[in-house]
Amino acid sequence: MSKNITIHWFRKDLRLSDNPALYNAASSGVVLPIYILDDINSGVFKMGSASRCWLHHSLKSLNQSLGGKLQVFVGDPLNILPELAKKYKISNITWNRCYEPWQIKIDTKLKQILINLEIKVNSYNGSLLWEPWDVLKKDGLAYKVFTPFYHNGCLKAKEPRLPLPSPPKLLLIETEKSLDKIEQLGLLPKLEWGKTLISHWHIGELAANERLADFLDKDIQSYKEGRDFPAMSSVSRLSPHLHFGEISPNQAWYGARSFSLDSNIDHFCRELAWREFSYSLLYFNHELATKNLQQKFDFFPWRYDSKQLSLWQEGKTGIPIVDAGMRQLWQTGYMHNRIRMVVSSFLVKNLLLDWRDGARWFWECLFDADLANNSASWQWVSGCGADAAPYFRIFNPVTQGQKFDQSGEYTRYFVPELKLLPDKYLFNPWEAPVEVLQTAKVELGINYPLPIVDLYSSRVRALTALKSLIS
Ligand SMILES: Cc1cc2nc3c(=O)[nH]c(=O)nc-3n(C[C@H](O)[C@H](O)[C@H](O)COP(=O)(O)OP(=O)(O)OC[C@H]3O[C@@H](n4cnc5c(N)ncnc54)[C@H](O)[C@@H]3O)c2cc1C
Repeated sequence: MSKNITIHWFRKDLRLSDNPALYNAASSGVVLPIYILDDINSGVFKMGSASRCWLHHSLKSLNQSLGGKLQVFVGDPLNILPELAKKYKISNITWNRCYEPWQIKIDTKLKQILINLEIKVNSYNGSLLWEPWDVLKKDGLAYKVFTPFYHNGCLKAKEPRLPLPSPPKLLLIETEKSLDKIEQLGLLPKLEWGKTLISHWHIGELAANERLADFLDKDIQSYKEGRDFPAMSSVSRLSPHLHFGEISPNQAWYGARSFSLDSNIDHFCRELAWREFSYSLLYFNHELATKNLQQKFDFFPWRYDSKQLSLWQEGKTGIPIVDAGMRQLWQTGYMHNRIRMVVSSFLVKNLLLDWRDGARWFWECLFDADLANNSASWQWVSGCGADAAPYFRIFNPVTQGQKFDQSGEYTRYFVPELKLLPDKYLFNPWEAPVEVLQTAKVELGINYPLPIVDLYSSRVRALTALKSLIS
């Protein structure tokens, strides 16, 4: 067997183009492309159900691009990689870096094991525009606030790497076909749920590129204003593709910047930089997913109410815009950013339930569930993050609905029980006169819930809880 075999270990880079580690592997000889489902080292952060479902389809698509030669494994990379290295007399291993603390731990251990076996390990940046350690303040510390991170850090750092093409020549090792092995990973949910979820998406590298092209062709022109309106198609919906690395942020960044820079393109790039900021926060705060960045929140009087948590998860809170968002999440594996902010604020402020409970549900249901983005965003909304929304800024879900879903299109779609209500009462049906409810065939407490919490008094309760923290 040839000595020049390189393993390329696919992780969150399920693509051929702009894949620096794969590109380098391909340039040095024959490649053995592998994927390892690691539910051991990921521990409590093992992939949620929706993500597993996406992964199944994404691996199938990648396998197809690799002519059926992707090898998939389940288990501990610390055992699997050295075994494979011996079996195939591997001389090199490449991977693109991941930034989850548990993954960094494994990679560090693994590197040492492989070096001891005289195997060269080369890791690359395939999922960030800037490495976290390349965007630091003048004092060498990490940024804690987004605006200076972006303006003084990112925009003054070295330009992001230009996207690479697919490897011009990709010689893959001949092994048994792995189609069935992807099925055997058991990634698809047992429930019909998985099928419904996936029906809203096209998955894989080709689909990701088409999504970006489509977005750049049409929707980006209204991005800055339109991105706040959940019924409009102004956002890119690239997040799951970016999370699984079916497309790189460099492709999105340079794709957008290939047009003359206007406020829409600028704003889109800024959102990509929020992703970078989340990764920087995670990289420099390994407990971002579990611990409040602001320690004073360790004393916050969170309530624990499993009934209310379930009603929130099921989209049965009786607050229409919140229910619409939670149902969008369950039905499509995605939720619009504006609505993510509304439902998370409702959970942590109006219900006073712990942000980690909300983050866990998102982790389970989102296709783009991402340890950095999810944890940083939940901390931001809760007020305990580094660059957090001030705690006293409590979204009013009624005015949020009236402002950002003016025509009610989004809310009526996901909460069809209310579709006949006039706009005036769509977001606050409990204030509608009896005859209006009757005409709209809405029976509060029967075919649509009464609010599980009073918005005014729960706001006061949240503010009181915050004051208890400061005093
Ligand atoms: C409570 C909460 C939880 C969230 N959890 C996640 C998560 O698990 N995974 C995730 O990718 N995003 C998360 N976000 C951020 C944001 O809502 C999504 O990235 C965005 O809605 C994805 O839709 P899009 O691709 O159409 O975004 P676009 O508006 O088209 O933005 C383009 C890309 O920029 C990045 N981006 C945009 N907004 C943000 C943001 N606020 N923070 C970080 N990156 C951003 C994403 O990668 C996104 O795909 C969360 C936000 C909140 C408020």
